[in-house]
Amino acid sequence: MKEINSTRRRTLLKGTAAATAVSVVGCASPLTTSSRPRVVVVGGGWGGLGAVRALATGGKVDITLIEPNDDFMSCPLSILYIAGYAQSSDFQRSYGAVDALGVRRVKDRVVDIDRAGRTVKTATQSIPYDFLVLSTGLEYMEEALPGYAAARDQFPVGFRAFEQAAVQRQVAAFVEQGGNFVITVPKPPYRCPPAPYERACMIAQRMKEKGTKGKLIVVDANKHPMPPPLAKPMQTAMREMYGSQIEYITEADPKSIDAGRKVLSTSKGDIPFSHANIILPMRAPGLIRKAGLGERFAAVELPSFQSKADKSIFIIGDSGARRCRRAATSPSAPASRSASRSSRPSPASTRKPDWATRSPLPAAICWGKVSTSLAIMINVTSSISIGDPPSIKFQVDQAANAASSKGAMDWGKNIWNAMLG
Ligand SMILES: Cc1cc2nc3c(=O)[nH]c(=O)nc-3n(C[C@H](O)[C@H](O)[C@H](O)COP(=O)(O)OP(=O)(O)OC[C@H]3O[C@@H](n4cnc5c(N)ncnc54)[C@H](O)[C@@H]3O)c2cc1C
Repeated sequence: MKEINSTRRRTLLKGTAAATAVSVVGCASPLTTSSRPRVVVVGGGWGGLGAVRALATGGKVDITLIEPNDDFMSCPLSILYIAGYAQSSDFQRSYGAVDALGVRRVKDRVVDIDRAGRTVKTATQSIPYDFLVLSTGLEYMEEALPGYAAARDQFPVGFRAFEQAAVQRQVAAFVEQGGNFVITVPKPPYRCPPAPYERACMIAQRMKEKGTKGKLIVVDANKHPMPPPLAKPMQTAMREMYGSQIEYITEADPKSIDAGRKVLSTSKGDIPFSHANIILPMRAPGLIRKAGLGERFAAVELPSFQSKADKSIFIIGDSGARRCRRAATSPSAPASRSASRSSRPSPASTRKPDWATRSPLPAAICWGKVSTSLAIMINVTSSISIGDPPSIKFQVDQAANAASSKGAMDWGKNIWNAMLG
C-alpha cells in the first residue's frame, strides 16, 4: 500500500502542475502579445504550489506568487502536532524551493481583484496579470453560529495553516485539566470531512495516555461520520477504541454559543463545556465572492477550472468547484485534466470543450488517523461528462490499520518534498 500511495502522490502532484500550466499557457498564446504572459498565483498553499510548480515547467510564463505567510504549513497530518505527538515545525517548509524556480514571490495579502484592469491589489501595491490563478482556500461562516464572532479567539477552528497552534493550546489545557471538550462537525461541504473525527480520536488517545478525567463530546450535524463511506469504520474506531473517552451525538445542529457561560446550544439541547473546537461551515473567501466569481464557492468550468465569469481567471483548490472533493490533491485539479490532453491544448475557450468521453477530475486521498499507529484511508476519484455533474467514487479501508497509518506519513513526506523539497 505504501508504494502505491507514494507513487500515486507523486503522479498527482506532477499532474497538478502540468494541468494549470497547460491550461494557462494554452489560453495565453492567442490572447497576449507578450511571449511570456504574466501569470499571478494567489495563495501559496496546496493548490497554489501545485500550480506554480506546473507553470514553472517549460519557462513559458512569468510567475508571481502572492502569499502572506513566510513558510508553508500543512493542514493534513498536523493533528499529530495538535494532539501533542509532534512539533509544528514537522509540518512546515520554507518557500525557498519556489524562489529557486525563478518565481517572483510577494509576501502580501491580496485585498481586491480589478477584473476590468486585470490587476490584483494588496494594501501597498497593484500587480498586473494576463492570467490569474486563485487558490486562496476557505473562510469560516462565523454568522452561522450566533455568539461565535465575538469569541473567535477562544474557539479557534484550526482548519487553515498556522491556526493549529491555538487549537493545540486548547487541547494541551484540556488534557491537563480535564472537563468537557466539545468538537462540532458542520454539514458538508467543509474542508476534509474526516478531519473532525480524526481530531477527536487523536485527542482521545492523548486523554487515555494522560489519564484525563473528562469527556470528548463530538456534536455532529450529520447522521454519521462524513463522508458516508467512512461512517462504519470511523464509528467503529470511536466506539471500540475510545468508548470511555468519546461521546458521539448525531444530528445535533449548533444553534448558538455562549462564551461567558461556556454553553453550546444545539437542536438536541444545551451542552456545557470547558474547552471547545468549534468547526464552522465554510465557503470561498470574500475576495472571490466580492470579485463576482461565485456565491458560496467559485463558479468554474470543469474540468478546466476556468472561471465561468472571467476566462482569464482559474480558481483551484477548496475555493472552487462546489461539487469537487475538498482535499489537498484536488487543488491540483486543473493539472490532471490538462495534462491528460496536453497533446492538444485548447485556446482560451468561450466554446464548450470538444471531448465527448468522461474526463478525470483531480483525485484525492484523505487520511483519518485514529491513533498514532492506525489510520483509515479514503481514496476519492471523480470524473465528469460535459453537461453532467461530476461522479465521485470512494474507496475506503473497512477498518483502521497500520499500513494506512504508515501510508499517510509517507504520503505527507513525498508530497511536501515534491512541492517544496
Ligand atoms: C485537519 C485537516 C486535515 C486534512 N487532511 C487531508 C488529507 O489527508 N488529504 C487531503 O488530500 N487533504 C486534506 N486536507 C485538505 C487540504 O488541506 C486542503 O484541501 C488544501 O489545503 C486546499 O488547498 P488550497 O490551495 O485550496 O488552500 P490552502 O492550502 O489553505 O492554501 C490557501 C493559501 O492561500 C493564502 N491566502 C488566502 N487568502 C489570501 C489572499 N487574500 N492573498 C494571498 N494569499 C492568500 C493562505 O495564506 C494559504 O497559504 C486536510 C485539511 C485539514 C484542515
